[in-house]
Amino acid sequence: MASDNGHTEPVAWHAPDPFSLTHNQFVDAWDGKLIGGKPRATEIFSRLHREGIVPTDVVLRDGIPYQINMPDVVRTLRETTSEGDVVKFLTRVKGTGRLKPSTTSSLNVLNSDADSLEVESVCIPMLARMQHRFYTLCVSSQVGCAMGCTFCETAQMGLIRSLTVREIVHQWFAATYHVGIRPKNIVFMGMGEPMDNLDNVIDSIAVLTDHRGPAVAMSNITVSTVGRVEGIERLSRHAKQPGWHRLGLAISLNAPNDEIRSSIMPINRASPMEDLRQAMIDWPQKGNTKLCVEYVLIPGVNNEREHARELANYLRPLSSPKPHVMLNVIPYNPRRNSPWPAPTEEQTEQFIDWMIEESIPTRRRRTKGRTLMGACGQLGNEKIRNRTLVEAES
Ligand code: SAH
Repeated sequence: MASDNGHTEPVAWHAPDPFSLTHNQFVDAWDGKLIGGKPRATEIFSRLHREGIVPTDVVLRDGIPYQINMPDVVRTLRETTSEGDVVKFLTRVKGTGRLKPSTTSSLNVLNSDADSLEVESVCIPMLARMQHRFYTLCVSSQVGCAMGCTFCETAQMGLIRSLTVREIVHQWFAATYHVGIRPKNIVFMGMGEPMDNLDNVIDSIAVLTDHRGPAVAMSNITVSTVGRVEGIERLSRHAKQPGWHRLGLAISLNAPNDEIRSSIMPINRASPMEDLRQAMIDWPQKGNTKLCVEYVLIPGVNNEREHARELANYLRPLSSPKPHVMLNVIPYNPRRNSPWPAPTEEQTEQFIDWMIEESIPTRRRRTKGRTLMGACGQLGNEKIRNRTLVEAES
């Protein structure tokens, strides 16, 4: 801003970002600086989220140019399935500034744009009754992940960084207005562990469910966690607030006992299954929403009859007096260089039958997007994974 004596003073005030704030926060944050006042702020926010219209004629009282930081979609990949196209798309975000190009050509896997990262998101088609199709958007909460689950592709990258509220909401905007698919559901099952970025995950849900903005129903949003108990407890407290009680929670259990779980999910050594079960029991249950327990079925690891029995015994306290839990069996999608194969159709069906025999409400998650490396647990940029080899010394 130019002052009377002609000197340039630093601009401390940041123009409000409609991707990081709820409608009310956005309107208030203008602080009287927007010509047109509150009605104009509401119009900017609503038209952006509801119609995808980016304002070009915003005038501020003190003449600071107003620019909205838009998502940068770099690639879109499609796989046709009988239920519709699975679309994986990548948005580019700022890097950490910690990576430097390699000097050896074999490791020189960086783009010319060295300090940027790619965030992966997937639109998954679902068929409801009467052939009615809707989409679930799988969003990432981090680039990479620190949890180290041995069966997951993302874990191979390690954690690069957590995403901001804007970068999470950008994924919804990119699906809706760049890819052209308005998702009914949003699941935090992309890259990253949402509980390791919980503040931003909660704030992004507040924006995504804002009635004057994206207006996604709270009951259509699910946060999936590796089973970080303190995170579940924090989210439980949050889910007791008005407007939040229909938020969905999914727990990646993936094993019938501590021994197996610790061998494939390092988090289990810090938060064993008994603590995890208590956190699930304490999750506020409202209406018909069920807690989802995910179980990646890996042949030779967790798919025996005895495992089904043990799993059922573990889940039973969550299933009575009324069913509180829905088991989701996910056939393992081999990660790159996987030591395990995918289960056969018979192995998957068999395991589901055993769980039903044990009276545990069970569903199968259909595999979609495998050829794109866009199915569960397959998100992860190989280039970035190699990049860690060329990371600058800290
Ligand atoms: N960190 C979160 C969300 C990301 S993973 C979590 O752990 O829940 C989303 C789901 O994909 C989890 O249930 C996870 O167990 C599952 N998953 C991970 N790798 C997989 C793979 N290779 N095949 C099938 N599902 C996988």
